[in-house]
Amino acid sequence: MQDIRKIGVVHNDMHEPTDPFEMRKQESVIEIHEQYADGLYRIEDSDYIQVVFRFHRSEGYKLRTPTYSGDVKGVFASRSPHRPSAIGVTTARLLQRDGTRLRVKGLDAIHGTPVLDIKPYTPTFDEAEQRQVAREHAKASPRFEIMHLVRTGALEELLLRAGQLHGHFCPGLALGVMAAAYVVREMGWAPEGMEHVVAVVETNNCFADGVQYVTGCTFGNNALVFRDLGKTAFTLAGRNGEGVRIAARPRERRQDEFSQLFKTVVRDRGGSKEDEARFKELSREHSFEILEHDIEELFTVECVAVELPAYAPIHDSVICDICHQPVMATRIAGRGNRQLCLSCAHAPYYELTGAGIARKER
Ligand SMILES: [Zn+2]
Ligand SMILES: [Zn+2]
Repeated sequence: MQDIRKIGVVHNDMHEPTDPFEMRKQESVIEIHEQYADGLYRIEDSDYIQVVFRFHRSEGYKLRTPTYSGDVKGVFASRSPHRPSAIGVTTARLLQRDGTRLRVKGLDAIHGTPVLDIKPYTPTFDEAEQRQVAREHAKASPRFEIMHLVRTGALEELLLRAGQLHGHFCPGLALGVMAAAYVVREMGWAPEGMEHVVAVVETNNCFADGVQYVTGCTFGNNALVFRDLGKTAFTLAGRNGEGVRIAARPRERRQDEFSQLFKTVVRDRGGSKEDEARFKELSREHSFEILEHDIEELFTVECVAVELPAYAPIHDSVICDICHQPVMATRIAGRGNRQLCLSCAHAPYYELTGAGIARKER
């Protein structure tokens, strides 16, 4: 049996392992040892190469390991550097060959990494198969792409996507996206909508949609708590009670076309079709401009202790004796020996509207 040999070494500016997606943005040079130079003959025919290398800084391994997306997988189902054979394989773009030096982009290996082998990359999947792989991946980790955008600080892309939920682009949404991306990244959590991580929002306006989209803590998955305090602020908290609260700093009152139109179109719900269109345009412009600011300029950030509500209780359904619709057991009003939903019983209930939370008397 032949030995595994070191055929070259990686040179780049990355001296410590970091986010693999960040690393892939960098260029590296692979320097092949002189005695293997002839093995590079016609490597330029390939635009992409597979680089096999040793994770030389990796020590020890676990057979189950947390993955980049935050869930736990077996080491052979992950790309963790901590593996029984500490070997990495990455497809990189071959930018240039200069003798025994290969300039590449997309290699997630740090400076000094020993290279064991190089092969040309020939895709075996056709496009349809690749799309299928991507779909399977999205089914297993639906928030993977969002978390990737958060980790790489791709705020504009996050805002574009949050707009799909929110319906328009506005400064409030942009602030929510920015605040949430900052906190999620700082805390290093990957919320999966299972109430392990909870967002406490202090407003139910546009800001809250940015927070929901980016944190994944939403109205529907019970990981969103609404405290009706009327502040552009939210706290991201873990079950251990540790949290980070981020709150908008006061902003200078604008006296411009945008603020005039805001009064006319939004506050007074008036104005012409042209006013509305112009307002939308300015609002969109401002929202993307906001992303250019430093986080400290716009927000204060503090660590806080948070008392989280218990995990949402799960109740059986009861069938209402009048409308025959299933109703959560805690939302049943007894009337004599009948079990009625609050609507049929004409009983009071709580309602969350644009105005906040209010009890509806019947
Ligand atoms: Zn909005
Ligand atoms: Zn009913």
